[in-house]
Amino acid sequence: MSELHTKTLAELAGLLQGGEVKAVDAVRACLERIEATEPKIKALITVMGEDALKQAETMDAGGPDPKKPLWGVPVVLKDLLTTKGVRTTCASRILDNFVPFFDATAVTRLKEAGAILIGKANMDEFAMGSSTENSAYFQTGNPWDPERVPGGSSGGSGASVAAGQCFAALGTDTGGSIRLPASFCGIVGLKPTYGRVSRFGLIAYGSSLDQMGPMTRTVEDAARVLQVIAGHDPKDSTSVDEPVPDYLAGLGRESLDGVTVGLPREYWGEGLDPEVEAACRAAVDKMVALGAKTVPLELSLTEYAIATYYIIAMAEASSNLSRFDGVRFGHRTAHADELIDMYTKSRTEGFGDEVQRRIIIGTYVLSSGYYDAYYNKAAKVRRLLRQDFDKAFTQCDLIAGPVCPTTAFKAGDKADPLQMYLMDIFTISLNLAGLPGMSLPVGLGADSGMPVGLQLMGRPFEEAQMLSVAACLERNLAPMPRPKL
Ligand code: GLN
Repeated sequence: MSELHTKTLAELAGLLQGGEVKAVDAVRACLERIEATEPKIKALITVMGEDALKQAETMDAGGPDPKKPLWGVPVVLKDLLTTKGVRTTCASRILDNFVPFFDATAVTRLKEAGAILIGKANMDEFAMGSSTENSAYFQTGNPWDPERVPGGSSGGSGASVAAGQCFAALGTDTGGSIRLPASFCGIVGLKPTYGRVSRFGLIAYGSSLDQMGPMTRTVEDAARVLQVIAGHDPKDSTSVDEPVPDYLAGLGRESLDGVTVGLPREYWGEGLDPEVEAACRAAVDKMVALGAKTVPLELSLTEYAIATYYIIAMAEASSNLSRFDGVRFGHRTAHADELIDMYTKSRTEGFGDEVQRRIIIGTYVLSSGYYDAYYNKAAKVRRLLRQDFDKAFTQCDLIAGPVCPTTAFKAGDKADPLQMYLMDIFTISLNLAGLPGMSLPVGLGADSGMPVGLQLMGRPFEEAQMLSVAACLERNLAPMPRPKL
């Protein structure tokens, strides 16, 4: 079997541009790897094998194009990004037969940069979950231990990258769904500032929270993908019309002199598994050894973040998902007598339990009489949370903490939805505040042997600084091993 899959995206891109590797070889290497690993991890809902090979052959015939930074690089997309002519399910029965007629803007940009789409990744249905167990199709296994979850909701994307099935994947992060699976699978995952990347063609869950970003094996690879997908898009009114900086420029930094890292008390205390704390602490110590200063911080509203997030996310979800009515999209029941019956049965048959739970709660918190008590209150707490971060960033340049209180848990271990929601405690505040954050693999837990991710959080639109610090730290940590799959 080809060893190409062990390369990073940056290495592969170099080999492709230099003509040492053909696009067809890159695609074949990924397809071989998919064949070898899918029986164990089931990361992908759709594999575009033949189309990818055909496209690679055409590209090889023309030769590499130095203007295309991802020329010939195979990538995977979370299955809620619309792809022209390719089934897009959101891992839901209701969209089981949905074939979009347009590409998401990020997908168009990847294609324009020369990337080759090779698969659509499994996920929690409509991105609701933290383990990828809520997919209507199948569970995805963690490449480090297939009995454990890969995290969610972009668990298929995370598992696929970690298993070497592709060189980068796109995920989406509404409350941690890029960072959590990145942490559980031992890869890099970056959630950009809200507005940095166009959401056009991203099937919405919580529109004021959703943001798409790269999941890769190295920081440099994440920077390369972000460079391609970032930037204003007239088709998404929430995408910001600000210039995109050069994300690769600062990656060579040798020290962390002059960087102040804030350590929020609420992220480093009670409830944190000792093995996660130890690995994250060691990484922060390394940052200090490299010249960074640390300051203690308070993000005192952290305890309200879960309640606030789940009110806002469910409210927005109930509204966004109302378009799936069995008329315009997707599944329609075969057993309805009249219109209301048809809506009800189509939605009951089409949506899974977790999605229905959220639609019901979301509708409740938006209903007249409860709107002020829940939704409006949550919106106010959200504003205060952002102020907490703004204040914190007057004392530091970056905030560091764990991504999740634990490493990847066993499938079925968190059957109680509230237990599952608690996994998001360290990730959701960032979405409520609209800020950028990332997960960097910093080693394996001493007890579980599973990967641990350190979370870095930054000021709005300061992804470049975050990436440069992460790259410096990554270079100075012991190299992250690969899962033996
Ligand atoms: N786990 C969170 C939720 O279920 C976050 C999901 C996400 O970021 N898409 O809502």
